[in-house]
Amino acid sequence: MEKNPSLCFVNGQWVGSRSGASSDVRNPATNALLATVPALEEQEVDQAIAAAHQAFLNWRSRPARERANFLRKIGDLLLLHQDACAHTITAEQGKPLKESRGEVVYAANYFSWFAEEALRVYGDIIPADDPSKRIFVMKHPIGVVGAITPWNFPLAMLARKLAAALAAGCTCVAKPAPETPLTALFLASVCEEAQLPAGVVNILTGDAELIGARLMQSDLVKKVTFTGSTEVGKLLIRQSADTVKKLTLELGGNAPCIIFDDADLMRAMDGILFGKYRNAGQTCVCINRFLVHEAIAADFSRLLCEHSKQLRVGNGADESTDIGPLISDVAVEKVQNLVTDALSHGAVRLTDSPSATTNSRCMSPIVLGKISPSMKIWSEEIFGPVSTITTFSNDREAIDRANDTCYGLAAYIYSGDLSRALRVGEQLEFGMVGINDTAISAVQAPFGGIKQSGFGREGSRYGLDEYLTLQYMSVRG
Ligand code: ADP
Repeated sequence: MEKNPSLCFVNGQWVGSRSGASSDVRNPATNALLATVPALEEQEVDQAIAAAHQAFLNWRSRPARERANFLRKIGDLLLLHQDACAHTITAEQGKPLKESRGEVVYAANYFSWFAEEALRVYGDIIPADDPSKRIFVMKHPIGVVGAITPWNFPLAMLARKLAAALAAGCTCVAKPAPETPLTALFLASVCEEAQLPAGVVNILTGDAELIGARLMQSDLVKKVTFTGSTEVGKLLIRQSADTVKKLTLELGGNAPCIIFDDADLMRAMDGILFGKYRNAGQTCVCINRFLVHEAIAADFSRLLCEHSKQLRVGNGADESTDIGPLISDVAVEKVQNLVTDALSHGAVRLTDSPSATTNSRCMSPIVLGKISPSMKIWSEEIFGPVSTITTFSNDREAIDRANDTCYGLAAYIYSGDLSRALRVGEQLEFGMVGINDTAISAVQAPFGGIKQSGFGREGSRYGLDEYLTLQYMSVRG
């Protein structure tokens, strides 16, 4: 396949790297070369930041309704180009086309929802002790935002950040993951088509460390929003110290799913399969550990194996595929190592050995029983189609085991007794809890974690606050 060079989007222009340096983007299912993207240098990153700053001076002062109109237009155009965008996602990320189409709708929702929220950035007037004074509280856009995004939702993670930032009146310099820059550049072309003013959205490709460092060091960048690994998140926290930069961090997860003995297992199965195998298990809110009441553990394990085996594994571009390839050979190796470690520490494999596929990155679902905290798979994010099952005998034990992790992003509970589920849910140390539900991501809900899963929220009115600063004026009449 011929190289198809793509360009970055800076200050409303499509630009390459002056040095000519570039990197390849490949299809994880076929390894085919899809395109090359420029590797920008420090000076070019700085120019993009300067352009975003220049654009901010105008963008911030436009009426919110004007900003809202642009956001709505971007959302509408994404829907118009849904199929082309979905094919780009599947080609570079691997997920099944049906999931990619869903991601486009989900991303478009962020733009349309924040278009409306842009109109509702209200302040307060607070009564003062001195009757001749008034306390005004106003909200202002924080400034230029750096956005660093992962490969697992190449469109949605960017949309979630950009839509809120633009609604607040901020401008952005975004750096997508090296595995999936083409979807981000697709979004840039949509911004161009929507005639978004130059410099409001800038999409850069190149070395992550270099671009990350420039964003963190720049005094013009007032906030960085990041979705990715806890390891890089910790690095950004350290780097943020010098400029006292505000951060929003969506980091790793280790989601427990507690299945109580009063759960309706048959009804639960659809949600459970979605929560475990979506995107081949490569999401930070995917179920990492099934904690199952001992009275129903045998039934649950049998059902999960039966359903897991029915999922079709293959190239995401094939309409019948349920589970696409993992993103890279390194990712496959990591998942295989976790399985091997678990088996060597007493776990049992409940599914047959994975059937061979034409592509070594395509992994058939694996279900492991007798999982215990001594195994790496208990404490590490799996990011693959591997289900792990352990049992508990009472509610207290379920809560303690669920909380036995340094992460605190998502947790799930299945129970027929809502008051039991709520009581247990409130004791779970996680930012998001799904009760009889694993489809927890929604534009109007605050997405985010606690503990080492990060801080700050995305989506919802709380997500807008992340891009706003408060200014209070004490006014004497
Ligand atoms: P993953 O292991 O899932 O790829 P990462 O945290 O490595 O997660 O990647 C998430 C995003 O962070 C990607 O866009 C990646 O390029 C970027 N990234 C990786 N290393 C750094 C770094 N040192 N500074 C800034 N961004 C980084």
